[in-house]
Amino acid sequence: MRLSRYFLPILRDTPKEAEIVSHRLMLRAGMIRQEASGIYAFLPLGFRVLQKVCQIVREEQDRAGAIELLMPTIQSAELWRESGRYEAYGKEMLRIKDRHERDMLYGPTNEEMITEIFRAYVRSYKDLPLNLYHVQWKFRDEIRPRFGLMRGREFLMKDAYSFDIDQEGARHSYNKMFVAYLRTFARLGLKSIPMVAETGPIGGNLSHEFIILADTGESEVFCHRDYLGFEVPGDNVKFDDAAELEAIVGKWTSLYAATSEKHDAKAFAALAADKQVSARGIEVGHIFYFGTKYSAPMKAVVAGPDGTERPVHMGSYGIGPSRLVAAIIEASHDEAGIKWPEAVAPFKVAILNLKQGGADTDPACEQLYQALSAKGVDVLYHDLDERPGAKFATADLIGLPWQVLVGPRGLAEGKVEVKRRSDGSRELMSPADAIERLAT
Ligand code: ATP
Ligand code: MG
Repeated sequence: MRLSRYFLPILRDTPKEAEIVSHRLMLRAGMIRQEASGIYAFLPLGFRVLQKVCQIVREEQDRAGAIELLMPTIQSAELWRESGRYEAYGKEMLRIKDRHERDMLYGPTNEEMITEIFRAYVRSYKDLPLNLYHVQWKFRDEIRPRFGLMRGREFLMKDAYSFDIDQEGARHSYNKMFVAYLRTFARLGLKSIPMVAETGPIGGNLSHEFIILADTGESEVFCHRDYLGFEVPGDNVKFDDAAELEAIVGKWTSLYAATSEKHDAKAFAALAADKQVSARGIEVGHIFYFGTKYSAPMKAVVAGPDGTERPVHMGSYGIGPSRLVAAIIEASHDEAGIKWPEAVAPFKVAILNLKQGGADTDPACEQLYQALSAKGVDVLYHDLDERPGAKFATADLIGLPWQVLVGPRGLAEGKVEVKRRSDGSRELMSPADAIERLAT
């Protein structure tokens, strides 16, 4: 992409309304635009990151055996009356009337709808286990939308729903998502810690929140330091092997970890002082097992091996991709701007032409741009007529993992400078070597 043909509305000044660094940087880097309180448009750069996050989320859901579908945002109140949640959900639910005065709502979550889909088609234990997910916008009329994408009113969620014949099966399904979540957050460059959690309006009795430690997090959390060094399961995990998964989950729940709602001060105090981590955290995922809470009232039943019908056991599993975009920035930035982990970077490389219109720099940049693009590398070519200082500032702000600095002095010696954003290290090399380095 050539910057001259892109849409990247960079702000030079720090927006006053933004209280935390991710919100500030997203506004300055032209990633998002607030359209109403807690409601944001994703501008092109932000949208690219959101899509990359979603792609990784999808790959790990698919790997764990979940199947993607897409449910609508608008739901009928009828379904929610069946489960009893229409009244119970309270003011966070955006209630809407259609032209026929029918009660509708903008979905804050989809347990009811997925249960309705399930009961329409599935009759037998032979069709289980089943896990269906979608990535869809949610609306929750939060009392205090704040911190940009971190706590929006409209936000993106990946929500998966598992169906099993009994509790043992449901436990295996829960463990699959638990492991998938560990892998997902690690691929996004984040260290997540599963913490025993309150189940809230979703209900049920087994639940973990996946928390990223960050000073700006809204949750107060307590955990054992060793979690920070735990190795995340590799891509050879056998998701169908219930014992293998139980062992992984067992390890990741063996040490103390809880949010303030579930905090047990005594148990925490019993840890060695140097193992106690008391910090703030961002909830990026939340998983629940809730048994027959929805299937019983909504009559989602399946026939077991003996022919008798029983309500299906369910769990639900949420990840917030839009919140994750912010969480990744909270975890990875410096004074100058964002430092994207390569897996979610909007582009991999920025080419900075330090003398736009130069007889040598222009063709050299053009060649680099063509060659890298041909090799499938996402490149943003800064081809605007700006001073080098301004180009450096923009490149550091938007945080692409690599910058190629192309100036007349270097070129006279046949060299360009390759800068790695994460640690600021620089290396002079020939354009051919730069292509080789960046294309692998
Ligand atoms: P919170 O405790 O932060 O209000 P929640 O427990 O209500 O979240 P869940 O119902 O567990 O949220 O939703 C699943 C995931 O969706 C969360 O882990 C989070 O990543 C994301 N999420 C929830 N609410 C918001 C929001 N207001 N803005 C952005 N993402 C959100
Ligand atoms: Mg939650």
